[in-house]
Amino acid sequence: MPGQISQEFIDDLRNRVNIVDIIKDYVPLKKRGQNYVGLCPFHAEKTSSFVVSPHKQIFHCFGCGKGGNVYTFLMERGGLTFIDAVAHLAKLCGVPVPQKELSPEKARQDSLRKRYYHINELAVNFFQKMLADSRGKKAVDYLHKRGLEKEICAKFLLGFAPDSWDELSSFLLEKGVAEEEIITLGLAVKGQRGTLVDRFRNRLIFPIPNDRGQIIGFGGRVLDDSQPKYLNSPDTPLFSKGRQLYGLNLARAAIRKHEQAILMEGYMDVITAHQYGVTQAVGTLGTALTTDHGKLLMRYTYNTVLCFDADVAGQEASMRGLDVLRRLGIKVAVMTIPDGKDPDECLRKKGKDYFLKLIEQASPLVEYKLGKQMEKYNKDTIAGKVQIIQALLPDLYNIQSPVERQGFIQMMAERLSFSETAIHAEIRKFQTGVVNSEVGKEKAQRNMEQNITAVEKGQRFLIRMVMEVPEIIADIEKSGGNTLFNHALYKEIYQTNYLLRQAGHNIKAEDLITQLDNVEARQILTEILLDDELPLDWERIYKDCVITLQIELLNQKITEKNSLMTEYEKSGNVTKSLEIMAELQRLIRERQSLVSTLAKGGNTFEN
Ligand SMILES: [Zn+2]
Repeated sequence: MPGQISQEFIDDLRNRVNIVDIIKDYVPLKKRGQNYVGLCPFHAEKTSSFVVSPHKQIFHCFGCGKGGNVYTFLMERGGLTFIDAVAHLAKLCGVPVPQKELSPEKARQDSLRKRYYHINELAVNFFQKMLADSRGKKAVDYLHKRGLEKEICAKFLLGFAPDSWDELSSFLLEKGVAEEEIITLGLAVKGQRGTLVDRFRNRLIFPIPNDRGQIIGFGGRVLDDSQPKYLNSPDTPLFSKGRQLYGLNLARAAIRKHEQAILMEGYMDVITAHQYGVTQAVGTLGTALTTDHGKLLMRYTYNTVLCFDADVAGQEASMRGLDVLRRLGIKVAVMTIPDGKDPDECLRKKGKDYFLKLIEQASPLVEYKLGKQMEKYNKDTIAGKVQIIQALLPDLYNIQSPVERQGFIQMMAERLSFSETAIHAEIRKFQTGVVNSEVGKEKAQRNMEQNITAVEKGQRFLIRMVMEVPEIIADIEKSGGNTLFNHALYKEIYQTNYLLRQAGHNIKAEDLITQLDNVEARQILTEILLDDELPLDWERIYKDCVITLQIELLNQKITEKNSLMTEYEKSGNVTKSLEIMAELQRLIRERQSLVSTLAKGGNTFEN
């Protein structure tokens, strides 16, 4: 994973900090035994299953499985890139980061991106100049009419695209930007006569920054009745629709502070919210919330309030958004603005305090949906009641806290004049159905995984040994090395560690985490590292594990040879099939001898 910075520096830096101190800034932690525990910042929970080990310098959540070292934490919770996480820790420790040469390809990509950001900056300057120009007067008037002050417009870098076919293009060409670059960034298209035609003409311009404030695209709003009302940049190497949250660069700090993000639809809503001091507001740039939006949010908070337009389209968007976020484990509430007003109108007319009160009163998911279903079906008929309850079952089923769930059931029973017992019965029925469906299969599989086989236990134990008694690697290599691992993730952990050691790194388990690209492999490793101390008879268990895995490997080989032999027999190739049979017999004898060794050892890892 790391490329630019030397592994030695990365490991050394990690050893200078205490992971507990770093995580404490994000999650309140309590000491429990050797470790610290707290509420997991990666999933919504009421009881602490998030463990931080100062001894091992790792974290692991026994609820959702997330785990890693201090770098992983800063990346996944702090929303930093790996390089930024290193820079952050280096700054804390007061040491400079030594720079290493970039690979030529990476260097080329980096400089290309820098160039694109620079061109977008030039475009921002152009649009801002136009807004200040006399030609921008109608845009200024419009902003004024919407109650936006000069400072906030400057903060959001608002601008104006003049009513001209190619003024921006000419400006950029003059600045030495190439035609292809202008087209690649979606700022213009090639016209029929082969000349450039600006994409944004006679529009108010909203530059769209990424979460670090670099300009990745633009949105433009008409000032008259032409269509489309809003126009965004097309997908470009910097911009892709459904991935950005408008205003996140300015809202990041407030979202962390309030532990809450307010999701809005439009540019104007977000800008107005920020002007009124509701600075945890971000916009979805269009109406459909995507999983990418959710993942981006999860870097900052797991708590969101949806504040979409009161019109029908806005409400339907809310509904879909609710499910997308809920599936990611993000807590969602829906804010309703009375009298069918839009958020920005509401803020202008009623002010900040009124708006904050509405946020506080936002309904949790189930309650909001109940209201919607009650508008849709007639709650005075039995059939209507049943339809309403049916529609809410998936949400009720997904509430993790029993107390919360019971609260909702009570509320439903009251509002629908229906018995609580009957609602409970419906949920149970639904639950049974779920077990047979996709979700159920997944859960059943997880249960099976908990009940792991001797073969998997063996692989796990070997990884543990490799971490705690590295000298044992020589013996594992003699016994079969990575062929002993038939589970891809264990194999990856073993192999990564082995190769690093071969290359002369005396790598610690905590540092290995940084080297694993696969998230699941990292999770498995942190879980293994948090196991209790090695049992006293670890040498005996180790030997049994190796034999168990060798037997498993032989089982695989025997199965392969068997089917190979059947094929040769079918095709009448007697010589080949006799050859294979001899090999088979050898493998079977080998297996028998291993099985009897295992039996003599009185092992606990039966197959
Ligand atoms: Zn968790």
